[in-house]
Amino acid sequence: MFYYEIVCSSCRRTFRLSEGTLKYKLFKERTNKIFRCEACESKIRMDAIKNFFK
Ligand SMILES: [Zn+2]
Repeated sequence: MFYYEIVCSSCRRTFRLSEGTLKYKLFKERTNKIFRCEACESKIRMDAIKNFFK
């Protein structure tokens, strides 16, 4: 299985994008420049939900 090792835009930790995932596709096509690891993404999602209920 192929994967890219990229650096998270938020926490600067390295994580992997596995072949076949949406993010892998986005990275390959260079349509998205900001990539975050799972931990940061779920954190951002939680913050968005919190803001929504303010
Ligand atoms: Zn991160």
